[in-house]
Amino acid sequence: MKNYELITYSPEETWEISYKLAEQLQPGDVLTLEGDLGAGKTTFTKGLAKGLGITRTVNSPTFTIIKEYHGRLPLYHMDVYRLENSCEDLGFDEYFEGEGVTVVEWSHLIEEQLPVNRLVITIQNQGETTRKINVQPIGERYHQLCEELFG
Ligand code: ADP
Ligand code: MG
Repeated sequence: MKNYELITYSPEETWEISYKLAEQLQPGDVLTLEGDLGAGKTTFTKGLAKGLGITRTVNSPTFTIIKEYHGRLPLYHMDVYRLENSCEDLGFDEYFEGEGVTVVEWSHLIEEQLPVNRLVITIQNQGETTRKINVQPIGERYHQLCEELFG
């Protein structure tokens, strides 16, 4: 399985990666973000938002599972960490198939509801400001995207 490993040494470097990625995103794109608490999932999402031209501040949707932002494309930011029951379906499909870009933090909690084709991003904390970002494309669209960006 093809995957890309990127190391960043500051939040800004992580932000730069997601910013560049955002510029290439299309309606219906789905990104999943895995990693422990404090790994940088929301930091990554902030860069995505900036890259999509969103000016509102993106933060961890602690009490809301889904937040919607508007830029060049809508951004649906999901954090399913607090989902009581992982079988609970909040109409995720409508977001995945919608006109915007969906990014899901703690996506493994809704594994069964995720679309097959997606960009799987895993962030590992490797020290105070060092992060290993693994990007695994699933599906032709994401393979091409990754080749262009990280190949
Ligand atoms: P998560 O959403 O995964 O719980 P956050 O993005 O909320 O994590 O928090 C990550 C924290 O780690 C932030 O305070 C961020 O500034 C810090 N950080 C330090 N170095 C990095 C890096 N290289 N990439 C991303 N975040 C980093
Ligand atoms: Mg978060």
